[in-house]
Amino acid sequence: MFKIIGISAALGLTCAGCFGAPTPLAPGLTGSVGMPNSGSQTDSVELPVRGLGFARYRPLGRNHWGRPRLVSALTRIAAEVENELPGGVLVIGDLAAQRGGKIPGHASHRTGRDVDLLFYALTPGGAPIASPGFVRYEPDGLAIVQGSDDYVRLDLAREWLLVKKLLNDRDIGVQFLFISRPLEALLMDYARARGEPLELQYRAQTVMLQPGDSLPHDDHLHLRIACSPDETQAGCSGGGPYWQWLPPLPQGPELDQALLQEIAADEPLEPLETPLASGKANDGGV
Ligand SMILES: [Zn+2]
Repeated sequence: MFKIIGISAALGLTCAGCFGAPTPLAPGLTGSVGMPNSGSQTDSVELPVRGLGFARYRPLGRNHWGRPRLVSALTRIAAEVENELPGGVLVIGDLAAQRGGKIPGHASHRTGRDVDLLFYALTPGGAPIASPGFVRYEPDGLAIVQGSDDYVRLDLAREWLLVKKLLNDRDIGVQFLFISRPLEALLMDYARARGEPLELQYRAQTVMLQPGDSLPHDDHLHLRIACSPDETQAGCSGGGPYWQWLPPLPQGPELDQALLQEIAADEPLEPLETPLASGKANDGGV
């Protein structure tokens, strides 16, 4: 264990212009540094624009950078879902900026551990289609496509397969899956009806949560992965509970408030943003 206390303050340095760069002042901190709402990242990798079973929501977007193990899990799992249930597409929204820090439309997504996953969608007749975007699903699993009279249906088979694979993945530990309560209920009913293992159902129910202080997440699933033991030793911290089924964590470095603020490289923690007005679909939320 090592302790880092106000290095920059002690040296009288400021961090203007060193966006998302904790390393000069605290070279021991690398990877996912700080907390999802007030951190940054180094050594990130970019999600490809498309691949087997997935496509980026914003092909030209600049905020598709994340932890290497998260990006590889997303591409691997999307391909597995496609192989087992061909024809769908996992549309992937924002991850983080290349060096982390604040990005538009999100309070978190700063350390490469968060990603927005649009829901797998079906036509009302049951044919798989790419998600039409951030459309809000009602408790019956139907969503109206903005600017049209068309409906899409939540694709429970693929969505549950995705949740299951995320929870069972060898490289990532799921900290949260933010989702609205009614949609969680649809997924859990589906899992129960299929006779999925009780332990898996328990973990799914535990990590799925409708956040109390942000958007209800009825238009996408927000995945946050927990810090790994190695990442913890290099400065990864917090973001929610650390579940008992995840590997034990070592003691991480002690991050004092001044250092955290410099790691964040911009303003400290802000209130969560509200949805866009005028009935327009929101763009990711948390
Ligand atoms: Zn999000």
